[in-house]
Amino acid sequence: MAFNVINEARRCLNCKKPMCRQGCPISTPVPDVIRTFLSGDINEAGHMLFENNPLSIVCSLICNHENQCEGHCVLNKKNMPVHFSSIENYISDNYFDKLDFGEIKKNGMRAAIIGGGPAGITIAIILARRGYDITIFESREKIGGVLRYGIPEFRLPKEIIERYKRLLLSMGIKIRPNTSIGTTITIDDMFRDGYKSIFIGTGVWKPNTLHIKGETLGNVHFAINYLTNPDVYTLGDSLNIIGAGNSAMDVARTALRHGCKSVTVFSRSDHLAASPVEVDYAKIDGVKFVVHVEPVEITDEGTIFVDLECDGHGFLSPIKGTERLYPATSTIIAISQGPRDQIVSTTSGLDVNDRGLLVTNTYGETTRDGIFASGDVVRGARTVVEAVNYSKQVADAMDEYMRGLKD
Ligand SMILES: Cc1cc2nc3c(=O)[nH]c(=O)nc-3n(C[C@H](O)[C@H](O)[C@H](O)COP(=O)(O)OP(=O)(O)OC[C@H]3O[C@@H](n4cnc5c(N)ncnc54)[C@H](O)[C@@H]3O)c2cc1C
Ligand code: SF4
Repeated sequence: MAFNVINEARRCLNCKKPMCRQGCPISTPVPDVIRTFLSGDINEAGHMLFENNPLSIVCSLICNHENQCEGHCVLNKKNMPVHFSSIENYISDNYFDKLDFGEIKKNGMRAAIIGGGPAGITIAIILARRGYDITIFESREKIGGVLRYGIPEFRLPKEIIERYKRLLLSMGIKIRPNTSIGTTITIDDMFRDGYKSIFIGTGVWKPNTLHIKGETLGNVHFAINYLTNPDVYTLGDSLNIIGAGNSAMDVARTALRHGCKSVTVFSRSDHLAASPVEVDYAKIDGVKFVVHVEPVEITDEGTIFVDLECDGHGFLSPIKGTERLYPATSTIIAISQGPRDQIVSTTSGLDVNDRGLLVTNTYGETTRDGIFASGDVVRGARTVVEAVNYSKQVADAMDEYMRGLKD
């Protein structure tokens, strides 16, 4: 029998000071939702979740719950936390298609959203409900950002993004796919066309490189490029992955599902960057791990690593003479991403920091009047829930700005 979410909900102690809520980056009112659900009002429970987090159904599947609500639950002391993620998923899934905002009264103001990822979708939903005429400009064929072009289907079904698309369209939000801002159309063109404010939520899509010999060979790829469309890659029988974060785990598990027979993840440290649950799943799927090594060269035959030793102060340094080839038909580099610069390079007045990330204040205001930003393009590669939480605040700031309430 499938996991019984009702029994799970009944285990909740309805704590006066709910630690689960404190552990949640978006402060989900966990016990209130559970109480409402158990009282038989699943619609109200769904409403509470959606109002607090428009991407609740996504977060229920891909948040790092062990570190957040479930990790903080008082019952976790006995290793038996309430599995709120399953309860949230059940409620949000049930509620999503019932969402109906009725007739939204338009306020006559136009706002542009650049990037249809979690940050852009959040802002679009909030501002459209307040009457703004919203257009999402998305450089790819479909919206979703990393939800569609990064996180694999077995962790997050693409149908969920399709449901969001249907919701956005039902709210009168316009979507311009295959439209990359900073090329044919610039931000100045948008201001010319009457957009009162512009939101940038373009994420981080430029793979970080290792700057070692072999990175340009034909059997070497970058994680985010591979995950965008694994079907078009021919990796051969064996794969070496450099880096051990969550993207590396997604690459490893995807490659195994696409016919690779042997997949090995290589990490400098034995403290793997990926969340423990993702590492566990990768191990169950058959992924091997090699730690305390550093890549020195990639070849047609595989990857050459050198062993690392700890100097006693936490610094790892290579041990000379230990270089050796770990054979593989392909190598994938999975050491995170940084932002692309096509918007910044075609827009005056937008400051970036030394990592190329947009400079904003806590309300998401960039250094140019009328332009706001949030999500990974501001904070670097982070999480969906953080992008949504920040974007809620930014939507309020954009609203105030457009209504002339901000000085
Ligand atoms: C492989 C991988 C796995 C991950 N797994 C998890 C996870 O399990 N849980 C979790 O919480 N987080 C995870 N993350 C992180 C999470 O997905 C991101 O933090 C989140 O997607 C950031 O949202 P965003 O809207 O800022 O950016 P994005 O999701 O990157 O969306 C940005 C959008 O902007 C579009 N765009 C870019 N440039 C332009 C342009 N010039 N014009 C128009 N459109 C443009 C892009 O095509 C994209 O659709 C993962 C990330 C990766 C890479
Ligand atoms: S901490 Fe655990 S038991 Fe207490 S309210 Fe939250 S989910 Fe329920």
